[in-house]
Amino acid sequence: MEYRKLGKTGLDVSVIAMGCEAFVEDNSNAMKFFDMAEKAGVNYFDLFTSDPAARTAVGEALEGRREKFIIQSHISSIWKNGQYERSRNLEEVKEAFEDSLERLGTDYIDVGMIHYCDAESDWQAIIDNGILDYARELKAQGRIHHIGLSSHNPKVAVRAITEGDIEVLMFSINYVYDMLPGTEDVNDLWADEVYEGGFKNMDPERQRLYELCEDKGVGITVMKAFAGGDILDEKLSPAGAALTPIQCISYALSRPAVATVCSGARNEEQFAQSIGYCDASDEEKAYAEAFAAFPRVSWSGHCMYCTHCHPCPAEISIADVTKFLNLVVAHNESNGIAEGSEVFRVPDTEREHYKVLARHAGDCLQCGLCETRCPFDVPIRENMKRAERIFGY
Ligand code: SF4
Ligand code: SF4
Repeated sequence: MEYRKLGKTGLDVSVIAMGCEAFVEDNSNAMKFFDMAEKAGVNYFDLFTSDPAARTAVGEALEGRREKFIIQSHISSIWKNGQYERSRNLEEVKEAFEDSLERLGTDYIDVGMIHYCDAESDWQAIIDNGILDYARELKAQGRIHHIGLSSHNPKVAVRAITEGDIEVLMFSINYVYDMLPGTEDVNDLWADEVYEGGFKNMDPERQRLYELCEDKGVGITVMKAFAGGDILDEKLSPAGAALTPIQCISYALSRPAVATVCSGARNEEQFAQSIGYCDASDEEKAYAEAFAAFPRVSWSGHCMYCTHCHPCPAEISIADVTKFLNLVVAHNESNGIAEGSEVFRVPDTEREHYKVLARHAGDCLQCGLCETRCPFDVPIRENMKRAERIFGY
């Protein structure tokens, strides 16, 4: 298993995380899934459900091994009239949180994820109804260690992150969503007319969100990496061709700030397939050529950090250099500062990340080999010159 830092939380999380779909459908699956996860080194799991029976089953599966797992459990996911609901009623939210601790048999949750906020008015309700304050209180008491937010809408996520409390973002990431503007109702993303005319380049707001998360040290945990399965199926995929599950995971993991992809597996076979990402070859993980060949997708001039242009004869990690270049430019642009301006500056985080790279843009030989391999016509030589100018080496 491969592990990554979950942003500034400092937690080392497995790149494949476990969702809870399988044990919501059948509680008896929980023990089997936790056994599989432990054996494979999967140490992170998401528990969005408020179903008391599923929570109890997870508590039983965790018995004697609580410390081996990092729990991402949802605040505001409640159980009412025998079914799951999202609530912004503080008393209901408090009661559901207490229930989660009791049923899971633990006295703390690692990441208390404020559940499912896709509308700006809803984020405001989270603030106005005291739910954000409640999360802060839980954190101060050590009953949650970090505050998270789950969302499908980049606009809301950007606002919440900019306001400062959110340390972990659970966000829906797959290449189809990435090319569509955010919406307050995620179901809009499934409307047929959305896909008319195909797709062109990444939605700038989503790009900005990922860059903001990386800049602020907010770790992203990914949901919906397979878009509910549609992008695995040539007939259903809006792009007109399919990716494999490994390629979908690889795509999500190559977005800035992403630490882990939650497998929404419904059975052991699907979970094993996700875990198999770690043993997959570089060829199996590579998605750029498949992506570039999609009949209804065009992605041009903008780096998607796919590493397809590697290896470089000067041993530059082109994807990393380009990512740090884009992060610095985005950071300045968000403050209204254009590249080339006298007040343009490199933030300390990016300066440090760039420094530890083995080779830098200044090592570029301008040979152009990388550009012959990039399926997206990224002007890599020019980017290397820009990065050298900005970072100084
Ligand atoms: S420059 Fe092209 S090939 Fe290289 S990482 Fe970016 S998009 Fe991929
Ligand atoms: S142009 Fe520069 S970055 Fe690209 S392969 Fe040559 S040395 Fe590497």
